[in-house]
Amino acid sequence: MSAVVIANWKMHGSGSALSAFANQWQALSDQPLPNVDVVLCPPGVYAQRAQQLLPQLALGAQDCAPEAEGAYTGDISAPMLADLGCSWVIVGHSERRQGHGETDALVAQKARAAANAGLTAVVCVGESLEQRQGGSQEQVVSAQLQGSLQGLAAGEFVVAYEPIWAIGTGHTATPEQANSMHEHIRQTLVQLLGSRGSDIALLYGGSVKPDNAGELFACPNIDGALVGGASLMADSFYAIAKAASESGRT
Ligand code: PEP
Repeated sequence: MSAVVIANWKMHGSGSALSAFANQWQALSDQPLPNVDVVLCPPGVYAQRAQQLLPQLALGAQDCAPEAEGAYTGDISAPMLADLGCSWVIVGHSERRQGHGETDALVAQKARAAANAGLTAVVCVGESLEQRQGGSQEQVVSAQLQGSLQGLAAGEFVVAYEPIWAIGTGHTATPEQANSMHEHIRQTLVQLLGSRGSDIALLYGGSVKPDNAGELFACPNIDGALVGGASLMADSFYAIAKAASESGRT
């Protein structure tokens, strides 16, 4: 499977920041990066402009509604995102689980809505610092997977393991910690989905930077990254995408 590297801009950026990013990306990427899917998830209001300025990147969204349409003020549906040209959508990011009270059941509905619209869902899971310190990280992540993947089939989603204590903190999980959790996630996916669970890309997220990306991608169970802060600058996101491209996945 190809590597996957996804930029999550969260609620950062502006029209001019997007133009500057696009100019810098063009200057860096004179040749396409082989064996890696590079995805940009800007704030939704900039999605169309991102697609015009950066047609060489796949377009993604940071969230979608669980319903396809209706009286849901402020929500954006998965079919609308597909209509806009998105092919990926992040669901269940810890900032939405924590800040918006999203449950595994809701994440599963959103992921189902995404798949129904032909989008690949990026289903995020990850434990808190307290849970890791208490040694329950594997049970926590298994339970999140079981709840958040209800009704999904292999081929409709990828998983992003994002330990909450590593997001935006500068404290990356060590390659050993990340790889070991990815191995656990792989086993859980095989239990849930049978042998097709082996084909699902597992991304790591949490303070990925150009200087740690190579060692993370060298781990056998890490197929890519979901990148927050370091994706806001074209040079650092490009360096991460290049490391993924050179990681030997095909
Ligand atoms: C994220 O937002 O999903 C993330 C991993 O952020 P950061 O890379 O800044 O830790």
